[in-house]
This record gives sequence, C-alpha cells and structure tokens, in this order.
Amino acid sequence: MQFAQRLQNVETSAIREIFKLLGRPGIISFAGGFPDASLFDATGIAQATRRAIEQHPAAALQYGPTEGYQPLREQIARHMQTEGAQVQPQDLIVTTGSQQALDLLGKIMLSPGDKVLVEGPTFLATIQCFRLYGAEVISVPIDEHGVQTDALERLIVEHQPRLVYLIPTFGNPSGALLPLERRRKVLELAAAHQVLVVEDNPYGELYFDAPPPPSLLALSTEVAGSRDYLAYCGSFSKTLSPGLRLGWLVAPAALLANAVMCKQFSDANSSMLAQVSTSEYWQTGRQTATLRQVQQTYARRATLMGECLRRELGNALAFTQPQGGMFIWARLTGANGTSTDAAAFVQRAIAQGVAVVPGTPFYASAPDTATFRMSYATVAEDRIIEGVSRLARALG
Ligand code: PMP
Repeated sequence: MQFAQRLQNVETSAIREIFKLLGRPGIISFAGGFPDASLFDATGIAQATRRAIEQHPAAALQYGPTEGYQPLREQIARHMQTEGAQVQPQDLIVTTGSQQALDLLGKIMLSPGDKVLVEGPTFLATIQCFRLYGAEVISVPIDEHGVQTDALERLIVEHQPRLVYLIPTFGNPSGALLPLERRRKVLELAAAHQVLVVEDNPYGELYFDAPPPPSLLALSTEVAGSRDYLAYCGSFSKTLSPGLRLGWLVAPAALLANAVMCKQFSDANSSMLAQVSTSEYWQTGRQTATLRQVQQTYARRATLMGECLRRELGNALAFTQPQGGMFIWARLTGANGTSTDAAAFVQRAIAQGVAVVPGTPFYASAPDTATFRMSYATVAEDRIIEGVSRLARALG
C-alpha cells in the first residue's frame, strides 16, 4: 500500500527498542518518562469523576465546545494568573494533552521546507511531529542552564525559522532550568525578529526547593511586543494524571482561532468527561497536597540519585543536579580511560540489569553521542542505589 509522502520524514524512535527490553525480570529502569502512578490521587479523581457524571451529565457525557469546558478554561486562566501570567479564559483552549497543542502548532505554522529551531537535545515527539509537517528541524546548543541565547540569535538570523520551540523549565531530556536573563533575551529575540516562540511547560510546577523564574509568558509583559510572538503549552499530565489526556494552549488570537478550526476537524473536543472531572477535582483544592507529594518524592529521589552517581561514577560522568522535573541528563567524560560511546554504554548497562536512554535520538541535528537520559521519577530509593551501582559496573 502506498502511504502519504510525509511519512518519509519520520521513523519510529530508537528509544522504543529499549522500551521493549524493560519487561525483562529484575531490570531497574531509569529509562522511562512516565510520572509515578502511585502518586496519582485516585481517590480524589474517582470522587470528582462521580460528581461530574451525577451532577453534570449533560456536560460530561455530551459533545462539548472545541475551545474546552468553560469552567475549566476559567480555572486554568486563574491558575496561570497566580503564576504571574496575564491570561484570560478566551486566551486559551483545552487540548488533548499538550502533545495535541504541539501538533496543532505544527499544522498551523509549518509548510514543507520551513525551518524550526529546537534545543539540542529536546522532546523527541516534538521533533517528529514538526518533521511530519515537512519542517527542517535544527538544534540550538544548550549548556547546563538551557538554551544558549547567543547561538539562538545567530541561528535565528541564519535560518529565519518559522518557530522556535523551547522547554525553558526542567527540560526533557535536559532537566535544565533557563535563568531569568536568558528568558528575557529569548523574549527580546522573539519581538525583534518577529519569530514565534513556543514555550512548552509540562514540568514547571515540579520544582524542589524554590519555584523557578517566571515563565516566558509571565515575563512577556516586561518585553514590549513579545506576547504577540509567544505560544504556551500547559499540561495536567505531570501534576494530576497523564491518563486524562488534558493540556492547554495559550496563543495570540489569530493563532488560537486557527487552532480551534483545526481541532474541529481532528477530535472536535477533548474528552468532556475528563474536563468536567478535572474541573470538579480542582474545586476541591486537593491538587495542592497532591502536587506537594509529587515534588517531595521526586526531590528525594533526585538528590539520592545525584549522590549515588557522584560517589559511584565519579568524574567519568558529568551531569547537572536537577532543581525540579523528572530527568538527569548525563555525559560520559572519558575520564580514566572510560569509553564515551553512550550507545555502547546503554547496551552494557542493560546487560548489568539497568536501563537508561541514549541521548542521540533527542537531537534534531548534531548529536552528542556521549550523552544519555535517566529518570528517577518512578524508582524507589533502594532501587536507585542498586541501579546506580549497576551503572558503575557498566562503565567501559
Ligand atoms: N512536552 C514535553 C516536554 C513532554 O515531556 C511531554 C510528555 N512527556 C509532553 C509535552 C506531552 O505531554 P502531554 O501528556 O500533556 O501530552
């Protein structure tokens, strides 16, 4: 059978091959990207879902507005206002996960041959999604503080991209946190070059000791003209539950109108049952305690994992201790004659009974083959200690 031409731009990811191995008995997996299911507030969500069906059956069980369930839009807008962003309900639509927001952005903004800038490394699904729309996706180098804004400026001038996609807060896979000055610089570049910046922020609330700097969206009021070139993707997946498949998109009016039109032709509306249930859940206020538990658990695991890595792998490994989110991004340094080939390292690690993800697939271009990603989010403390010991044995 002949399939559409656009499929030639993408392939199933190398990471999937690693996930196939994770079913092996006894393997400790730092490879996943899922939140810890034991932290889901199942009781609270069950009660909210029951209330949604019993008290709002005509909303929860019916088709709904493409823009989203109005009470939920209002709650999201209020929530973003408490984080310093000036957002009204009409400035956002509810999407089927933030991944749908990214897909809509690709659909609306990208024609074949258009250029897109992303962090090197970045979220794999975004690279693939933009490629599916025919875009040429180009990496901007990052350091331990996220995207390098000098390089970003140079590449914007060189490539005239249709959009720039960034995860400024606890990136996937980088774990990096973009400092305030670089955030301002990104906004200045958006306004000066009139290029759309997409801020993807599913991890911003998962901070450990201190809240991160304001989002680009919140800061945009300080940089004249930048808000017109800014889209923001939010998600309930890491704070509440990814099974709900709920996220949201904040964007300038004309862009949002096109997103609504394209969403009409796609899924018409995001699950009304999920939206009404989430709205009911948020009214209880239980999300505050749920989030605190997630923050504290991930913070403990991240600290422990950092300590173990420093103790067991020493200067053979370089990594930044995360201040939030779910990931540690690491680089084999080659110290003491160890290998810097992360792909080979991953194979030896799996043979030792521990899984991590090689870094290369996370780069749209110019991969650093010495890198790999680890997640501590779902791994209990004793397994983190044992898993890192196994990683140390896999150093070649
Ligand atoms: N963006 C990033 C950076 C992610 O890591 C993820 C999920 N892992 C998503 C978007 C998609 O999240 P959602 O479940 O909201 O579609």
